[in-house]
Amino acid sequence: MKITINALQEMEELAQKLAINAEPNDVILLKGDLGAGKTTFSQFFGKALGVERNINSPTFNIIKSYQGRLPFHHMDCYRLEEDGEDLGFDDYFYGEGVTLIEWPQMIEDFLPDTYLVIDISYVSPTSREVTLEANGIRYERVLEELV
Ligand code: ADP
Ligand code: MG
Repeated sequence: MKITINALQEMEELAQKLAINAEPNDVILLKGDLGAGKTTFSQFFGKALGVERNINSPTFNIIKSYQGRLPFHHMDCYRLEEDGEDLGFDDYFYGEGVTLIEWPQMIEDFLPDTYLVIDISYVSPTSREVTLEANGIRYERVLEELV
């Protein structure tokens, strides 16, 4: 499924729609180059999930957790070695919360079997092309509800 986003506000609306339907154990992989909008999407998502604290880029901490309607785990694996060490990822994926992962390519061996992939590509300063791909029935339903 492909969506063209023409403004920051449309990215917020997409994040809101997904956050409203988020359930415990949901995992969303965020792909795209530096500056594509992965952190921006995560901030909108967390806010829509009810997180009141400021959501910063987790590049240096790798994992940051927040409390909203559900626990919200925000990961950025950019600084990990490829196929690096397991930081206890399963506790996040199979706990009570929702996990969003920037640079999931770095932890391919530790990812769960099912997840939603959101791939963001830069088109112009305010436009992005977003490709959503469901891996598993749960996420096929999520995409159906998005339409
Ligand atoms: P990444 O985490 O993918 O490296 P960031 O979210 O940190 O990217 O940066 C994206 C930048 O692009 C932010 O400064 C954001 O405000 C800006 N931006 C402008 N328009 C959009 C849009 N439609 N969607 C996402 N980001 C946008
Ligand atoms: Mg980022």
